[in-house]
Amino acid sequence: MEFCKTYLLKVQEQNLYRKPVIYRFLDAVHVELEGKSYLSLSTNNYLGLTHSSAIQQAAIDAISQYGTGSGGARLTTGSHPLYQKLEQGLAAFKKTEAAVVFNTGYMANVGVISALSGKGDVIFSDALNHASIIDGCCLSKAHRVVYRHGDMDDLAEKLKDTPCSGRRLIVTDGVFSMDGDIAPLDDIVALGETYEAMIMVDDAHAVGVLGHGGCGTVDHFGLQERVDIQMGTLSKSLASEGGYVAGSQALIAYLMNKARSFIFSTALSPATVGAAHGALMELQNHPELVETVLQNAQYVREALTFAGIPVEGNMTPILPIMVGEAALAVKMVELLKEEGLLVSAIRPPTVPHGSSRLRLTISAAHDRKELAQAVESIIAVSRRVKLI
Ligand code: PMP
Repeated sequence: MEFCKTYLLKVQEQNLYRKPVIYRFLDAVHVELEGKSYLSLSTNNYLGLTHSSAIQQAAIDAISQYGTGSGGARLTTGSHPLYQKLEQGLAAFKKTEAAVVFNTGYMANVGVISALSGKGDVIFSDALNHASIIDGCCLSKAHRVVYRHGDMDDLAEKLKDTPCSGRRLIVTDGVFSMDGDIAPLDDIVALGETYEAMIMVDDAHAVGVLGHGGCGTVDHFGLQERVDIQMGTLSKSLASEGGYVAGSQALIAYLMNKARSFIFSTALSPATVGAAHGALMELQNHPELVETVLQNAQYVREALTFAGIPVEGNMTPILPIMVGEAALAVKMVELLKEEGLLVSAIRPPTVPHGSSRLRLTISAAHDRKELAQAVESIIAVSRRVKLI
């Protein structure tokens, strides 16, 4: 096992060593670490629903009624009634015929992509797609063609030039998780129609953020009926955990019979499914939360940009501050921590070398006064390290 130590030494030298830190969540956006409280600017809890009392009660009720574990896989004995409520609710929210829940978003992507594509098929994948999409492509054994991020000329050329004896699939994040920009889904759909490719969108970071009532990228672009596979997660705006796919009845029944990550894993616990269903209801009852998170994000984006800080992305609550070197990103995180702010440094292998960044994520639960203070601290730290 000497190779483990060698590897760890190497990542330490490169400032890329990582380990989980245990935080005590105080509320949706505050955490405690070693007795000190911090404002979190790095949570995917976009709507702040993790601490909603209605959703917590939904989880408690689920446990009281159905117990703590599902005790079986979905196709054996694990499909408790809350699954039916959640899957029907997701299909209605996404305006599709049906939906199916997977245990995580990661498992949804690997399961769906490997169920839909195989030998002889070609998958066209954006260069910045999430790791779970990349892993799904590898698992599928289809030929993977990576097009330059958001570059429709490159995608068109690759669709034209790549021979395919089987099916074509174009897959993209709706909102890119590390860059915060929105995929040009309207152009992707048009190209998909020209080349008879299936279209799959990963809406992990778009639900609760884009489209009417936060229902995602397809609605944002008005592309209902033209996107075959809408994947999403229950772990971000929906304040629980799990993944899902929404689409036609035939697609969903096919996935239930074919996707190995759906078939061969124990079903989610009643508490998890109950919380996700509670969050879906809460989002539909409070569509103003979507407006709040977007306004908060716009406020921070404008203030940082005005100060000359290089913030990427557009419109969404993901605000990457481009720093460059991993060591500088780590240093800034430490300095911000001294200011009571919790921010994640995103480094290789998550992003390419030389493009390390601080990934700020803004929530509807952030208070404007605290955000204003946070902006001041970020500007001060950026000056201190000569980023600006
Ligand atoms: N897709 C994207 C774009 C993601 O950002 C993530 C997780 N961060 C996933 C899929 C995986 O979802 P989960 O965390 O629910 O497994």
